[in-house]
Amino acid sequence: MSGKFPGGLTLTESRWCFVPPKPPIMGLASETMESGLSGTILVVEDEKEIRDLLAHYLRKEGFTPILAPDGETAILKARKEKPDLVLLDILLPKADGLEVLRAIRSDESIGRTPVVMLTAKGDETDRIVGLELGADDYIPKPFSPREVVARIKAILRRSRPGAREPEQAALAYRELRMDVGRHEVRYQGKPVTLTSKEFRILQALLSSSGRVLSREAILSKVWGEDTHVIARTVDVHIVKLRQKIPFLVKAIETVKDVGYKLREG
Ligand code: CA
Repeated sequence: MSGKFPGGLTLTESRWCFVPPKPPIMGLASETMESGLSGTILVVEDEKEIRDLLAHYLRKEGFTPILAPDGETAILKARKEKPDLVLLDILLPKADGLEVLRAIRSDESIGRTPVVMLTAKGDETDRIVGLELGADDYIPKPFSPREVVARIKAILRRSRPGAREPEQAALAYRELRMDVGRHEVRYQGKPVTLTSKEFRILQALLSSSGRVLSREAILSKVWGEDTHVIARTVDVHIVKLRQKIPFLVKAIETVKDVGYKLREG
């Protein structure tokens, strides 16, 4: 694979330049070989060359690109086509990338679509505002299209229903850190002792990317086929989690008659 494409075209707002080959990003080789990851990607970029090049790389990897040259078209196409992911430039005519992101997040039918922002190098403000508005990732320009494709695949794999949960992963939410492999939780750097059920409920919430988890879903994730456990048990464990980590009193939102979710942000 890598022999076929010895280098990458690197894009800036105004020019392309050739960069020497870099060692593969971790996991890239297997991602490239992976089959079955496909989908529709809305590419929002006003510069035609960059847009076309991204479209070319996406097609080559089995994705279907939809193109939008400005913010207004992007919002219309996002609503109409309901893409699997949006690749979103910030500096755009008509409506900028942050406005597009806001429009997507506030529209119920497409609000959960993963969004990857393309930001000008070093522009911290755009990046922070983008993440606060709910962007899933950002890629600073100039970028290599292959890296963009690798990031898209990683995000799609995480966001797909039924996606494997990261077994050995480190999970994080604000100042909360979970090392799944070591079975450790820290809040503001201080270790917190949890029972294994509490740990696994917290893990389920941290892996749910803001989705609501029903009590039944939590039961089957944590207790598996043990039918003696009733849904109310989940509530009891959530109470304990909130006692041990008071930050979770607000961070875990109770969704009436359904279950629980982690607050966005
Ligand atoms: Ca632009």
